Amino acid sequence: MASKYRAMKPRILAASKIHDLAIKKAKEFADIDVKAGITEEELVGVIGGYDAVMVRSKPNITKTVIDAGKRLKVIGRAGVGLDNVDVNAAKARGIEVVNSPEASSISVAEHAIGLMIALMRHIPKAERSLREGKWDRKSFLGRELYGKTLGLIGFGRIGREVALRAEAFGMKVVASDPNLTSEDTREYNAKLVELEELLKIADIVSLHVPALAETKDLLNAERLALMKPTAVLINTSRGHAVDEDALHKVLKENRIAGAALDVYKNEPPEGSPLLGLDNIIVVPHLGANTDEAQVNAGTVIVEKIRHILCK
Ligand code: NAD
Repeated sequence: MASKYRAMKPRILAASKIHDLAIKKAKEFADIDVKAGITEEELVGVIGGYDAVMVRSKPNITKTVIDAGKRLKVIGRAGVGLDNVDVNAAKARGIEVVNSPEASSISVAEHAIGLMIALMRHIPKAERSLREGKWDRKSFLGRELYGKTLGLIGFGRIGREVALRAEAFGMKVVASDPNLTSEDTREYNAKLVELEELLKIADIVSLHVPALAETKDLLNAERLALMKPTAVLINTSRGHAVDEDALHKVLKENRIAGAALDVYKNEPPEGSPLLGLDNIIVVPHLGANTDEAQVNAGTVIVEKIRHILCK
């Protein structure tokens, strides 16, 4: 009886390193093989034996892989993008494709708040100064978040999490999002305004938009020029949303007070003149880089796969 049950279990291939807790969860309803580091060619050879495949940003689930996956019902991408999955080829075969963008929202929101504080209190610069043997307090006069106006561009999963946390700091929140109504943002004590208005009034501007054609260089020279000279910019969304040459210019000319960037047009941003500026904090795309987000990315995908395979 037990062996009959085992034979009926769906088979899942983890083709990337998926968190152990997620693998444990998958074992509750499926037979799972872990082959992290498998190449596309090797994948083509084995995929025919599986009902589901789980990946992170590698390997690529190409049309060739999908065509070889004769019993494949679902492709799970643990994480945000779907760049490494041929979604159209999957659709054509009736294979569902799921990802877990919600898994890292809190991590990214906390990172954005962390960057705001780091920027307003000059933490990285002050830390470097002390390590260099100085005891300089005068150069690092900071500013509080309390009472400041936070402008959130994009009020989806992450923007909302930032708004909730900003309220605890006593900030006023305004948001710009073409797909929302005032009722949607009021629930979060945030006022919906036009982008231009937001840029004029915000003390801190934080970007949380997806990479779409309409958001390419959303913050261009003209829009950056609307920001107050005391305002700062945080970008934890996509480098795509900022004209980096224009940003470099306004920072160099001190037309805004500073910026903190997690994301860049080219990653890594080798040779970018932004890295040479004094009024900027740069970190290497760490928004979702937490233990919790890694666990969530795996467990959310496993839950979605379970829902599809066991319905
Ligand atoms: P989401 O889809 O939940 O929300 C995005 C919001 O932006 C939506 O409400 C949408 O209506 C709005 N929007 C679309 N076009 C807009 C425009 N022109 N102006 C203003 N708003 C606009 O996405 P999310 O999960 O909140 O993610 C936001 C961004 O964060 C994405 O770019 C995502 O790739 C990025 N992200 C970064 C990291 C990181 O490690 N730094 C991790 C996860 C996600």
